[in-house]
Amino acid sequence: MRRLDDSLLIATHNAGKFEELTALLEPLGIRTVFARDLGLAEPDETGTTFIENARIKAHAAATATGLPALADDSGIEIDALGGAPGVYTADWAETPAGRDFVLAMHKAHKLLVESGASAPWTARFCCTLVLAWPDEEDAAFEGKVEGQVVWPMRGTQGHGYDPIFVPDGHDQTFAEMDRWEKNRMSHRAVALDKLVKALGA
Ligand code: IMP
Repeated sequence: MRRLDDSLLIATHNAGKFEELTALLEPLGIRTVFARDLGLAEPDETGTTFIENARIKAHAAATATGLPALADDSGIEIDALGGAPGVYTADWAETPAGRDFVLAMHKAHKLLVESGASAPWTARFCCTLVLAWPDEEDAAFEGKVEGQVVWPMRGTQGHGYDPIFVPDGHDQTFAEMDRWEKNRMSHRAVALDKLVKALGA
């Protein structure tokens, strides 16, 4: 795959994702630029898969700036809910006043209780990263982390659905873990590791 010899635009307006990706890329000498700081418009995520949405975001940002752009599309799949919310993970948090992830986690829990499924509520965080160049070349990388949904919410670190997700082999939720510990094992880290290997960085 082509080398990166410029700054890498992180095509997200989500500060949590930007910080997590920057923390993983900076030690490799890759300088990141936050799309939100450039005031880039966010394209509509009209895809029905993680890869389709990541492609839409990465290509829109690369075309608008002339920089290579990295987009992440991610979400949580809960088995007892047939894989929901999946690609609609962020949508479950939408309110007229902005995104409310506490509300989204309550919704997931309510649906799990209504489903009658007994614990453990197996689930996984999924991430697809797409690196796109302004000339439209791109490459995609996937990462997953298996675990279970727990209730009540626990922990104050991280973002999104972190307070209700315990990865396999651990007792703490992502939101109770030290940020570095989560960053090392997250679905985003798994996908990024593949990207970094492909870049030869
Ligand atoms: P999108 O990729 O912008 O569509 O949003 C995916 C959503 O999945 C985020 O807004 C978060 O709510 C959730 N999500 C993705 N990765 C994580 C994570 O590492 N921790 C918690 N929630 C996450």
